[in-house]
Amino acid sequence: MDACDADPYLRRAAKHHGNLTTRSCPVCKKEALRELRYTFGDQLGQYSGRIKNEAELEEMQSEYGEFRVYTVEICLGCGWNHLIYSYLLGDGKTRKAPRKVRTLEDEDFMEEEAARKPLKAWHLHEQELRDQGRF
Ligand SMILES: [Zn+2]
Repeated sequence: MDACDADPYLRRAAKHHGNLTTRSCPVCKKEALRELRYTFGDQLGQYSGRIKNEAELEEMQSEYGEFRVYTVEICLGCGWNHLIYSYLLGDGKTRKAPRKVRTLEDEDFMEEEAARKPLKAWHLHEQELRDQGRF
């Protein structure tokens, strides 16, 4: 991750889910840094890459065999961000990734929804033309 180049998604995530720390930004020295924890792992399946809070991490610790937590600190003022550390969590028992379920947060699902719309609109349009006897 490049310093001073937080993408809009990272900033938004830090604003809504970030833990406010007592450390101030080393670059602009104006804002307190916010911490985010991302979880990654094969056993997390589609949930790999999600942001989790400490309570959720504690639960996941006994639900998954192994996953990695990346802690990132972000400054909302200037956008400076930095991977502080990563560590492994889990109870050591290997599990299969959860079956893929559709959630609203799922980007694939959103894309499919968007892809279906023009198709539906075209069908309606076609029906309209038939009704007008032009088809
Ligand atoms: Zn800053």
